[in-house]
Amino acid sequence: SDFLMGMAFTLHERQMLGLQGLLPPKIETQDIQALRFHKNLAKMTDPLEKYIYIMGIQERNEKLFYRVLQDDIERLMPIVYTPTVGLACSQYGHIFRRPKGLFISISDRGHIRSIVNNWPENDVKAVVVTDGERILGLGDLGVYGMGIPVGKLCLYTACAGIHPDKCLPVCIDVGTDNPTLLKDPFYMGLYQKRDRSQVYDDLIDEFMEAITDRYGQNTLIQFEDFGNHNAFRFLRKYREKYCTFNDDIQGTASVALAGLLAAQKATGKPLTDQKVLFLGAGEAALGIANLIVMAMVESGVSHEEASRRIWMFDKHGLLVQKVDSHQEPFAHQAPEHIPKTFVEAVNVLRPSAIIGVAGAGRLFSEDVLKAMASINERPIIFALSNPTAKAECTAEEAYTVTEGRCLFASGSPFELVTLKDGRTFKPGQGNNAYIFPGVALAVILSSVRHISDQVFLAAAKVEQLTDEELAQGRLYPPLSNIREVSIYIAVKVMEFLYANNMAFHYPEPEDKNRYIRSKVWTYEYESFMPDVYDWPESKVH
Ligand code: NAP
Ligand code: MN
Repeated sequence: SDFLMGMAFTLHERQMLGLQGLLPPKIETQDIQALRFHKNLAKMTDPLEKYIYIMGIQERNEKLFYRVLQDDIERLMPIVYTPTVGLACSQYGHIFRRPKGLFISISDRGHIRSIVNNWPENDVKAVVVTDGERILGLGDLGVYGMGIPVGKLCLYTACAGIHPDKCLPVCIDVGTDNPTLLKDPFYMGLYQKRDRSQVYDDLIDEFMEAITDRYGQNTLIQFEDFGNHNAFRFLRKYREKYCTFNDDIQGTASVALAGLLAAQKATGKPLTDQKVLFLGAGEAALGIANLIVMAMVESGVSHEEASRRIWMFDKHGLLVQKVDSHQEPFAHQAPEHIPKTFVEAVNVLRPSAIIGVAGAGRLFSEDVLKAMASINERPIIFALSNPTAKAECTAEEAYTVTEGRCLFASGSPFELVTLKDGRTFKPGQGNNAYIFPGVALAVILSSVRHISDQVFLAAAKVEQLTDEELAQGRLYPPLSNIREVSIYIAVKVMEFLYANNMAFHYPEPEDKNRYIRSKVWTYEYESFMPDVYDWPESKVH
């Protein structure tokens, strides 16, 4: 894939590679190619059209693709990633050009190793895998979910400089329970209901074995957008056996905690004084809650006391009785008057922070925001559900109703908000994209065997913001800095890994910043000319 650079091949390269005459005579620089891309993109208004165009560049000229992505990450990330990737997934079979990634179906059971053998790259270091059951907040998209591993791995390269050839997107097809897709003539997976039997578990087992058998036990395997029940089960089952993590549980936890720690710096109110009410009690909520507890315990609060500061409200209301074993620590003795609605829960519990991870749309209503604004001087409001249409509230709603006093973050990006009095706010994007690329880079370069929650706690604690950015009310750095932020996180996480005997790459790099930067893949074209040189005169006979 490095081989494709369009008209940028030099005269000698063209001659040597037999390309002379197959390209127009002009030798083009990457700058001109990037300019053409930006000009073409600017003419497009439809996000899906932009997605198709950009992903086409990834196929035709990979280095150019990453060049333009890095040039303008703030504008292009919402296309390659949330929210547009959600739209692209829901239309995957309709906008299909050519396949990307590895498709493994339940009918292939017993032959996964030979399918993995078909992948052309010999040195894969990172796999992102989904089974398509819970794509963003859009639900079961079956094989159409492939857009997510593809998009996530684009960020591995764009944000953390991980070599694209070392990244493998995988979609596991065990069917879909989405009735629309089962009737869609362009659907690309098996037309069957999701297999939920032992065969599914055996398939995932076989997949994990096949990947590590070919690429080594240290291969990083990131689970993405699995349904709730399977996500927790597989994390428990595999975390001590493979080098794996679940981004929806652990990556999200880390980015949300990072936002809360930034809020602590901005307001001076310690994390241990926060009272957090979640909307949603699934993968993201439980992951975040557990990491908040770990951080509070580190600050000297008992586990019980920390858990008591966290409440959850799901589809069935406030968690109060004995429930799912993961949720249990956060199911508390019911208040005297059990709140029936979320706004009642806010009024009864008086949280300092609300975190929306229900994937159910605009449930932080004006009432909810008003209540938060009257209870708190600086209410923390995180609307983390993706894509944009599923966010619990918009940035504008949050800043307007709280008169600019809230500390706000959202999972998908929102535009700048200007209030009537002229003050403007730049909403932060609380998205795991700030965490997983840096963590993955550190994990890969350190030869880590297992990834503990401590790693995500360490990543959350990396200070990402300058004092100036904090003073502006930012909770996350500007997206335009995400490359530097990711590399900085990788350095800090690598230091943590070596200090805690979790790194097995030998010898330990002394200057980790220098080491990491020396390993980062860049988009500059490389020469295809062989290493041609002369011997000294006297040696030639
Ligand atoms: P999940 O495991 O399926 O959990 C969803 C939770 O929300 C469940 O507890 C569900 O309750 C609850 N819920 C659903 N509808 C609700 C309603 N109307 N009112 C209250 N609670 C409701 O999914 P997840 O992995 O946690 O993801 C949830 C959302 O977070 C998605 O939109 C996803 O895009 C987003 N997310 C964002 C990031 C980020 O980086 N910003 C990362 C990961 C996920 P029941 O179990 O009773 O149905
Ligand atoms: Mn996800």
